[in-house]
Amino acid sequence: MGLLKITNGILITPYRYIRGGTVVIEDGIIRGIHERDVEVPDAVEIDAGGQYVAPGFIDIHVHGGGGYDFMDGTEEAFLKIAELHARYGTTALVPTTLTAEKEDLLQTLDAYKAANRTNRRGAAFLGIHLEGPYFALSQRGAQDPRYIRNPDPQEYEEILAYSSSIVRWSAAPELEGAIPFGRRLREKGILAAVAHTDAIYEDVLEAYENGYSLATHLYSAMSGVTRRNAFRYAGVIESAYLLDMDVEIITDGVHLPPPLLKLVYKIKGADRTALITDAMRAAGMPEGESTLGSLKNGLKVIVEDGVAKLPDRSSFAGSVATTNQLVRNMVQLADVPLLDAVRMASTTPARIMGVESRKGSLTPGKDADLVIFNENVDISATLVNGNLVYSNQLLINA
Ligand SMILES: [Zn+2]
Repeated sequence: MGLLKITNGILITPYRYIRGGTVVIEDGIIRGIHERDVEVPDAVEIDAGGQYVAPGFIDIHVHGGGGYDFMDGTEEAFLKIAELHARYGTTALVPTTLTAEKEDLLQTLDAYKAANRTNRRGAAFLGIHLEGPYFALSQRGAQDPRYIRNPDPQEYEEILAYSSSIVRWSAAPELEGAIPFGRRLREKGILAAVAHTDAIYEDVLEAYENGYSLATHLYSAMSGVTRRNAFRYAGVIESAYLLDMDVEIITDGVHLPPPLLKLVYKIKGADRTALITDAMRAAGMPEGESTLGSLKNGLKVIVEDGVAKLPDRSSFAGSVATTNQLVRNMVQLADVPLLDAVRMASTTPARIMGVESRKGSLTPGKDADLVIFNENVDISATLVNGNLVYSNQLLINA
């Protein structure tokens, strides 16, 4: 791989800007961050042309893109999705499943293993996120109700034994068996997240004490304040604010309106909030009919108004966003400073997934996962482990 040098950029570390800075990369690792151009004999040079150079975006919740869904269960699907999202600035992602039959889940885990070995041209994989099937039926959203059930130790132990690639699992904490399930995940070093849930504060507190540390797509498919007879109860949203939980938000500009983006940012801040796409297969594709989940037995959905919807339009069925849009929306819709928006798309998700020693900032010693983009967060180039996996024609010498 050798030496690479990126010059003439506005570096976003993302704790500060370094204007006219230079990044030196050797064998896929960031070797130096400099305040000016430096001599590096034999280095291949990329001139950033005065654009931003930032840590690559890390999407910890994504289902598909480019016409493919991870639930297709093929190596090809994994590779194509990784390539599609790399074009839009994602350098690492956590492939996410949907509620499904166990056999289909196992097939997707197999495909992950194969694709992880051959993935050279796309965003890197950080391990699998199982979204379901242990959810509250009342908060299923677009998850297929046929497969929703309570945590079943025999089943989840079999899945955990089958694959060592599971890094995250989302479940509803109020279900019978959900607390021992959370404890088991924590014991295995797997991130437990609360999702598709009607829990009240008391449930979430117990879950938090037993390993659940992240709220999956805050505001989507979860309870807020409810009343039982005359009495009010705090829901998952209030719990996520009150407890020191991490949250992730779908920042496609559709799922959450600007006031809610601002509220999450104001209360949880850039260090506790990760931006996610939750994208389905139609990301990067024209609007129209599509399928959520596998082509074999997924749900028919419509993509319109920049989002996927169930056919009766009663619920969103995933986004069609890309990570550069997430950052752009936080800046343009929620008035968040660019440094913080980039942190929510890089440093914070890296920390949530436990990979912050390798990824998530422009720091010597970290993987050379970088994006170059303009004022509008249009991506000019994406590097994964020092490899230029995408570039448009605007870069010089790339
Ligand atoms: Zn999802």
